[in-house]
Amino acid sequence: VDDCSRFLSDPPIRDKRLLEFSLGWTTLFGVRAQMAELLRVFVITWDPLELDDARPRAFGTANSDELCVYVPFWSLEGLAERRGTDVAEVLGWLGGCAVVTAAEYQQDVIAGRHARLVASGEVPDLLAGALEDESSEAVLGRPAKIAVEGGGWDEIGLGAITDIVQQAYGPVAFDRSLVGLAMPPTPRQGCPACEGRRFNFPADLNEQAVYMCGPHQKEVQKVTRERMVRAGQSNRPGWNAITGASIRREEPMLPFGLASKIRAQIGKPGPELLRLLAQAHEQFSGQPEEFYAAIGEKSVRPGRPPRWMQTLVHDLASAGLIEEALAAAETLADFEPLWSGHWYDDSLAALATVVTTGAIEEDRVRFQVQFVRDLCPGSPSVQMHAGDVYHALDEPESALAAYENARSLAVAQRDFEVRRAVASRITALTGSGNEASAQQVIRVQRRVQPRKRRR
Ligand SMILES: [Zn+2]
Repeated sequence: VDDCSRFLSDPPIRDKRLLEFSLGWTTLFGVRAQMAELLRVFVITWDPLELDDARPRAFGTANSDELCVYVPFWSLEGLAERRGTDVAEVLGWLGGCAVVTAAEYQQDVIAGRHARLVASGEVPDLLAGALEDESSEAVLGRPAKIAVEGGGWDEIGLGAITDIVQQAYGPVAFDRSLVGLAMPPTPRQGCPACEGRRFNFPADLNEQAVYMCGPHQKEVQKVTRERMVRAGQSNRPGWNAITGASIRREEPMLPFGLASKIRAQIGKPGPELLRLLAQAHEQFSGQPEEFYAAIGEKSVRPGRPPRWMQTLVHDLASAGLIEEALAAAETLADFEPLWSGHWYDDSLAALATVVTTGAIEEDRVRFQVQFVRDLCPGSPSVQMHAGDVYHALDEPESALAAYENARSLAVAQRDFEVRRAVASRITALTGSGNEASAQQVIRVQRRVQPRKRRR
């Protein structure tokens, strides 16, 4: 247990790592004891399938000679908290569930068909018994022994990725056995394959290929291609998941499973999404593109945030979350300064709609308007929305000045949209005009008096 807290108190959260534990119970005998021998429990700092929807809190899968349980460390902490226990108890609870479940389907496990039967829904997932009820009792109780294996945190490799994919998509027939290449009639000096070496697949084989003679390089390509084709044919979604995760393994990551958490909140603009974004942005200060890649936003052009981020200030305001909209403008602008004008502009447009409701104090409204105008003095849209705010504050002169300013900027910048929009506002304010502006005037008259200033 000492080991446990020593290694888990300071996990390498910015790297893709795993920490293996061995668990032991003293009271086991028979099949359960046999299955407990096969158990390997890993705490991970990165979920290779973090971009998938609705990820479970932990993943367990059976190979014929191993029961593998993977627990993201952020879920480990959360589970310990909700169960009112510690991480050792949680590992024992999950590991014990895997052992007991595997013991029930011992024949399938030993025959190496358990994972396939789980995928087709014929037998329960190794951890279903525990995860379906997070407060369920640990079937084997607290482990008598819990120790770190292998000296500490190690890199997440293809083995872990394959297991985790297997839990989600079923087995992929990816042959990773040692590769021995044919011996040519005339071996070439220095070629590792001509020297009769055998290679781990795929990493070792492909690293060594550059030192090989021409015929052996060709053979490496052939073996690699054949094995990949066979894997893809055996389980296309599973294979795609393995290759996708292997690519993401080389890319920057977000700690604490933030990628999954943020993706789950996209389309639900609110305080939780903002909190997660602020936390995530810390890791990618000055590197927005890396952040977009880390949360799995593909086809985002440089300097262009994903659509849901572009509209976030507006969406928060539309949902009535004006404080959050103002906070979002600030957070987002810090993160992607190129777009700060856009978000601050949206914050002004939002303010204009709530001034009369008293949802925001007048002092703050004035501060925000001044701040944004100073920040974007050349933006016709910002000047127009500033005018809207003054209009709502019942200050027609300031409103008109801002509108006039907006109009000349719009003319100079050939911004026809703002030019048209601001023209109808001016008409409404100055009382001359068409039907649309008449309605604007009515709106102005109906408006309630701004609240008195607080003392
Ligand atoms: Zn050779």
